[in-house]
Amino acid sequence: MHTCHIGLGSNLDEPLHQLKRALAALGDHPSIEVRKVSSFYGSKAVGPGEQPDFVNAVVELATSLEPIPLLHTLQSIEQQHGRVRTIRWGARTLDLDILLYDQLELDSAELTIPHPRLQDRPFVVVPLEEIAPDLALPDGTCVASLLDYASRNDVWRLPLRDGV
Ligand code: AMP
Repeated sequence: MHTCHIGLGSNLDEPLHQLKRALAALGDHPSIEVRKVSSFYGSKAVGPGEQPDFVNAVVELATSLEPIPLLHTLQSIEQQHGRVRTIRWGARTLDLDILLYDQLELDSAELTIPHPRLQDRPFVVVPLEEIAPDLALPDGTCVASLLDYASRNDVWRLPLRDGV
């Protein structure tokens, strides 16, 4: 079994509901076991034009799927949830990214692991740190050391009544 961390994000069509349905779909997959789920976080959209805030979370999975089949599984969950993908970086109903896959480093046309923008994104690092504070990236960097204090303010934990 492989240990993977997946980032989830949505800023359209009831984002919290999108994330909960995606978590249920991951849990229902016969080759995936959901081990840990972070809190839900709000974050400001970065990208073109005015966009609603995002809801983000990170999950830890155990899976027997190899990286590319895992990517395709995530893409099919995105499609089932009617993902809107008109503009790059634009608003979306559901975005699922492979952040880490064991200590694998992979750089192919279809898939880059660790996710290339992981370190720049407080909305990924903050929930990742919540569920895996001692985790190190393949280059040895500890997740807990990725963010400076100021950028933590770009992300806020949603109240429990909106969460689990
Ligand atoms: P985006 O629209 O930003 O979610 O980008 C999706 C594209 O990124 C897909 O076509 C994937 O093939 C590619 N990709 C590269 N690395 C990753 C990764 N670690 N997780 C998810 N998608 C990835």
